[in-house]
Amino acid sequence: MTQLEMFALNMRLLIGILVFLALVFGLLFAAWTALKMWKFHVQRRRAEAEVRARKYRPDGRPYPPVAAGICEQCGGTFAEVFHLPNGTRRCRRCYEKDEG
Ligand SMILES: [Zn+2]
Repeated sequence: MTQLEMFALNMRLLIGILVFLALVFGLLFAAWTALKMWKFHVQRRRAEAEVRARKYRPDGRPYPPVAAGICEQCGGTFAEVFHLPNGTRRCRRCYEKDEG
């Protein structure tokens, strides 16, 4: 085998290895991106479900307007107090106890 043939063989081997490495890195990058997209999707769905759970009762009816204040039933101060249409104010716990 001449030296030129050896060189050609080595170059072909080297190019093959480089192409293989490029494919592997491409696949890893694609998998990593897909994983991040999936995680983002799951987090967004969880956040949306949390917002929905805060705004709507389990039976689908919306909660009344909410603001920070004092519950008229138990007297506690809360970051979330429901302002009912009849003017009374209830914390989440008392409201859910009243509504059943
Ligand atoms: Zn209360």
